Amino acid sequence: MSKLDWKDGFLFVGNQLALDFLNTRPVQNGEPSELLPDFSALLRWFQAANQLNSRQVGSLQRQWGGSANAQRTTEAMRQLREKLRKEILDWERSGWVQHSTQDQLNKLMAEHPMRTRLRTNGKSYLTELWFEPREPEDLFAPLAHSVARLFVTADRKRVRKCAQCVLHFYDTSKKGTRRWCSMQLCGNRLKVAAYATRRRQRAHKAQKNDTGV
Ligand SMILES: [Zn+2]
Repeated sequence: MSKLDWKDGFLFVGNQLALDFLNTRPVQNGEPSELLPDFSALLRWFQAANQLNSRQVGSLQRQWGGSANAQRTTEAMRQLREKLRKEILDWERSGWVQHSTQDQLNKLMAEHPMRTRLRTNGKSYLTELWFEPREPEDLFAPLAHSVARLFVTADRKRVRKCAQCVLHFYDTSKKGTRRWCSMQLCGNRLKVAAYATRRRQRAHKAQKNDTGV
């Protein structure tokens, strides 16, 4: 796999936080690979996804690393991820999600809200979303919010699973014809496979001609 699509051991090919989260369990060489085995990995993912800075990661790790709470939260996040995997596929097809999922997201957003702040970039003012990670569960804030935003703002015809693997992405290309998680990961693999097939066919033909002579 190419280094281009990886950041700190995680894949960022989704163009959307919720989809990148979904992609933390890719299937490599036929085997599902769990990229979020523990709380430290979870923290590294949130940092790679630009949701936590190194100071916040350090503080959460010091305060909660090895705790039952951290373990429970990591497990709950993986469960949510697998539930969303099914929900997002259903939503891509039908445009609807289960009531229970809606309820779960609303509960998470109520308990771990994103906050808004005003800031300036030197030229003008803008508002930005932020959250305060005091305990492991607070990491649900950006996650639940981005899942909800996916259902609201994304053109679901452009949210799709890679034609070759389990990875999901939001197609932001101009034409909207992206088929693969990435050219480096699956696009090339397909090309290589097609090339190998062509070569096999050519070899087979040549062999037949040889024996025919
Ligand atoms: Zn793929």
